[in-house]
Amino acid sequence: MARRRPNRRAIKLHYSYTSEEAARTLGVCKGTIRRMLKDGLPHLTDQRPYLILGADLRDFLTSRKKPKQRCELHQCFCFRCQEPKAAAGGMVDYMPRTALSGQISAICEDCGTIMHKAFSAAKLALLERRAEVSFPHGQPRLSDRGKPRGNDHFNKELQA
Ligand SMILES: [Zn+2]
Repeated sequence: MARRRPNRRAIKLHYSYTSEEAARTLGVCKGTIRRMLKDGLPHLTDQRPYLILGADLRDFLTSRKKPKQRCELHQCFCFRCQEPKAAAGGMVDYMPRTALSGQISAICEDCGTIMHKAFSAAKLALLERRAEVSFPHGQPRLSDRGKPRGNDHFNKELQA
């Protein structure tokens, strides 16, 4: 099935829809509606099947229409602010998952929510120019990489 944009204009504001009806009205598959419910689309849960108010459905789609904003290197997407945000105090934690990549965590400078994103170890040097990166689990700083280490686990990971 071709991906189509939900047709918001087909929604009748004073109707309530089951998820099946909502899917048909919008011209999307039922999984899309399920995902929207999970993402916070308001619905009436005191009976089954759940009912979705037309007005809620329209509002939800409208609020999601914002173009996706890309995070810059030193930013993470803040789910509360719904946009890319820089780290409070310019402080970022890097938690390695493999030798090549890991996750950075930071606190949103505006609302204090903890933000995460996957990050490539190769870009850490660039990130360090824009933020203060710390390695909470005692992982070596970049300058220490490449030196022989007596750590079996680390060596095994490199060979794998
Ligand atoms: Zn925020």
